Amino acid sequence: MAFMKPVESKALFMGRLAHGSDLLEAISEFCLQNRIRLGRIKAIGAVQKARVGFYNQKTREYQYNDIDRPLEITNLAGNVSIKDGRPMVHAHITLADEKGNCFGGHLASGTIIFACELILDVFDGPAFERGFDEATGLTLWEMGE
Ligand code: ZN
Repeated sequence: MAFMKPVESKALFMGRLAHGSDLLEAISEFCLQNRIRLGRIKAIGAVQKARVGFYNQKTREYQYNDIDRPLEITNLAGNVSIKDGRPMVHAHITLADEKGNCFGGHLASGTIIFACELILDVFDGPAFERGFDEATGLTLWEMGE
């Protein structure tokens, strides 16, 4: 079974984020300031250091990995929806080191931008609100009708 609802393209933003700022916070702040409640995020660039999460399905807690060195953002994919009445950015990131080895996970605060080029698709559509999901312990989209 799939919980899917149609959305429509409303606006498209393209730009870059400031050197030295926190990647997750910079995207979240842009969404808050522009009242973006539903969207898709894509980005590439580089970070000075990274903090990524791994959700432990047994303990139902995030474990965090700190990678304290420069890395390329080979891909960042995410979305914007609503949690507790506010826009929430959920993004996953893949990062490569100087040898091309990749690391990845759930983007966490503490990932610092070296350079970042971002594309943000803003959608019109039904509210995608996050709520506690018993099966996973995560806050997932409530798609019930
Ligand atoms: Zn995640």
